[in-house]
Amino acid sequence: MALVNDHFLKLPNNYLFADIAKRVNAFRVSHPQARLISLGIGDVTQPLCPAVTEAMHKAVDEMAAKSTFRGYGPEHGYQFLREAIVKNDFLPRGIHLDTSEIFINDGAKSDTGNIQELVRWDNSIGVTDPIYPVYIDSNVMIGRAGVLENGRWSNVVYMPCTAENNFVPQLPDRRVDIIYLCYPNNPTGTVITKEELRKWVNYAIHNDAIIFYDAAYEAYIRNPEIPHSIYEIRGARKVAVEFHSYSKTAGFTGVRCGYTVVPKELTVGTLDGRERISLNMLWNRRQCTKFNGTSYISQRAAEATYSPEGRRQVRETIDYYMANAAMMRETLTALGLSVYGGEDAPYLWVKTPDGADSWQFFDSLLRGANIVCTPGVGFGPSGEGYVRLTAFGEREDCEEAMERLRRWL
Ligand SMILES: *Cc1c(COP(=O)(O)O)cnc(C)c1O
Repeated sequence: MALVNDHFLKLPNNYLFADIAKRVNAFRVSHPQARLISLGIGDVTQPLCPAVTEAMHKAVDEMAAKSTFRGYGPEHGYQFLREAIVKNDFLPRGIHLDTSEIFINDGAKSDTGNIQELVRWDNSIGVTDPIYPVYIDSNVMIGRAGVLENGRWSNVVYMPCTAENNFVPQLPDRRVDIIYLCYPNNPTGTVITKEELRKWVNYAIHNDAIIFYDAAYEAYIRNPEIPHSIYEIRGARKVAVEFHSYSKTAGFTGVRCGYTVVPKELTVGTLDGRERISLNMLWNRRQCTKFNGTSYISQRAAEATYSPEGRRQVRETIDYYMANAAMMRETLTALGLSVYGGEDAPYLWVKTPDGADSWQFFDSLLRGANIVCTPGVGFGPSGEGYVRLTAFGEREDCEEAMERLRRWL
């Protein structure tokens, strides 16, 4: 008899965005005249830039001619893209990586979810809270997270990030083998300084732990003091894997391309403590078995983001979103709300007024201003009492949403 992997059954079946859709649809039915504005979307809205679409057209034409057609590519990605990454994303920051340390993927979600396969099921994990749900759920699915009790998984160490600690997570007081960090952060939109990040790298070095560092929003950083990569910290290549994505950087949410950095110096011990195993070697083995590469067209598209025109055009779109964020931040603050993030990230994290919980404020914002937000508690227990707003909307929609808020509050 085939038996189900019952770890999957532990996952709550109320998926956050399905819950939101249900409430929004119910509201639409009872208020057919209302024009809703969504500030809840975690997806980009602006189209691909011309440099990228030109590269894609050219790649399609190559696929159409016998002499330039390409079938399966290398599982770890084409050399042209790995070289462009090493040269553009790391060298200017003084980070010297080898192309064999770069693994091209179809977006960061797959790899942030899959990377946990490389370590034993009984390693302990620590996450900043609130957090991108993929990190925990992927560990739940293989039984590493334990059981869910009062919104917390029994084998997960939560490191709260709230207004009280200025969104600076404290090092865990118990031993943690695997740490997930995401900066700039989704959902809070906050960033980490070099000094704080150094504490985590040192913790990992002293405890023989690994850091999985999600840098998906790195391109949104404005403050020159804020690190774009964990490898800006000395010693990080011994302990950290880093994830990048073209999704938010260049609007690739529908194109699909990203990459993972697994440095050659990063090793993990065997149970008997006799050997150190290279994670780069293991990840390469894993990818060759379970992944057949990202499409040639997507990789040419990603390469085009590094050309002079590509860089300029990508930057323009990011500037557009960040102008939304600045405008929203200013309005919300002027209205007396406590607003965090939105300066080096496309997310604003807003404290709900009058002690309302996340879902109560979600409902009153929907009814009072016809605006959809994302309840913070959906990202973890420390998200309670906050909502997330995104700056990915059209300028006019963001402006109208702020005008409605002015009238409503
Ligand atoms: C959007 C996002 C990603 C990127 O996902 P893709 O699969 O590359 O589209 C990764 N991490 C976080 C935290 C995100 O919000």
